[in-house]
Amino acid sequence: MPLMQPPDAVLEITRVLEGAGHEVWCVGGAVRDALLGIPNLDWDLTTSAKPQQVRRLFKRTVPVGIEFGTIGVLDDTNVMHEVTTFRSDVETDGRHAVVRFGDSLEEDLARRDFTINAIAYSPSRDELCDPFDGQKDLAARKLRAVGIAKERMREDRLRALRAMRFAARFDFDMDPATWQAIVVSAPHLQRLSPERVQQEIVKTLSQVTLPSKAFRMWRDSGALAELIPSLAGITDIELRALDHLRLPLLPRRPQRLQTRLAGLFSASRSGTATATLKNLRFSNADVSWVGGLVERWHEVGRTMTEELMRPEAPTDATLRTWAGRVGRTRLSPVLRIADAHWWAARESGKPAPSQSRAESVYRRAIRIAYRDPVEVSDLAVNGDDLLKVGITGKRLGETLRALLQYVLEDPMRNNREALLTYAEQHA
Ligand code: ATP
Ligand code: MG
Repeated sequence: MPLMQPPDAVLEITRVLEGAGHEVWCVGGAVRDALLGIPNLDWDLTTSAKPQQVRRLFKRTVPVGIEFGTIGVLDDTNVMHEVTTFRSDVETDGRHAVVRFGDSLEEDLARRDFTINAIAYSPSRDELCDPFDGQKDLAARKLRAVGIAKERMREDRLRALRAMRFAARFDFDMDPATWQAIVVSAPHLQRLSPERVQQEIVKTLSQVTLPSKAFRMWRDSGALAELIPSLAGITDIELRALDHLRLPLLPRRPQRLQTRLAGLFSASRSGTATATLKNLRFSNADVSWVGGLVERWHEVGRTMTEELMRPEAPTDATLRTWAGRVGRTRLSPVLRIADAHWWAARESGKPAPSQSRAESVYRRAIRIAYRDPVEVSDLAVNGDDLLKVGITGKRLGETLRALLQYVLEDPMRNNREALLTYAEQHA
């Protein structure tokens, strides 16, 4: 049995490059993950061949990052494999490196961020090259910078955020010098573009099973205060809530990510999430959906908690009111965020609704929200109907809201005649 088994297409690329007299190695995430026994489909290759030589050796290539020496090689099934010429960084400014092509694998591994990401594997020789003892750190479950941590983080501030993501993702301990370097880096993190920071938040929320560990480090290192001040005071319970927004409850990935984002930003003060998300350059769709979830949570979270802690279960009318306040489509994620906070509170021995109460209310609320009228647009009358009976201006909106309240109490009231009568009396 070979030490690891890269996909056939990667073996073929290796064969072609070596056949032409070049050196070639698998590097980075796939090698690390193979050693951890985790599947990873992205096998990156590094080679002594220069980019133009790589291009000439393969039929179909894409110049994905030609200025950094990266060529994409397309295999028979149109999957792209990245082949990067050995590099060494000559100069850095805290984010961007001036690179030159290097002469050796060792030099290339030396510019990588963490020891566990700096292990190379030769498929043809079935041999590892591990000059920074990455395997030892994998075994000891330790995240450690390659070389002198403070210098490496000064070269590229993104590494501080990457370190916290990798440590949380694999549940590794942070090597003390690496942690110190992250703390020292924190005041300089504004050097990073908002897009980069956003990308790290998204990667952390989507790759890390228990994101609380990552964001606790963001908080304790000072990174949160620097990058997302509105979350600097996030509590341990709020952090733990993130761990409970997990996959089995939320089968669709995009929803999971956005719900987790909302879970994270639910720790910010009311009215601040939307602006923060915008500053981090989230898409307009994400800003409005996630920001909306956070604000709805601020509006109803406390009431929900109090209601669910009463001895008797909330009435259907109460559940309709919540559905009306947060909106039918937002009800499920808002309840999931609430549920996650309750889990975290219970784990910390704080008063919270019981799991069984939360589950039964969740099921009832969703059923009711999709069965009963809960929004103004569900009413059996609309604005035009009210205009016809002489209700205009500011009173029109008020009357529609009063009608909704009337119907939320009892959905049987949602018929034209009854509503028009009520509207005229109300007006
Ligand atoms: P993932 O599974 O998340 O893709 P990965 O280890 O492949 O993990 P990438 O961001 O794809 O991470 O980077 C590939 C490799 O490039 C890393 O394993 C590391 O060796 C190197 N690398 C990436 N970013 C940096 C950086 N900022 N500084 C130094 N080396 C880096
Ligand atoms: Mg990768």
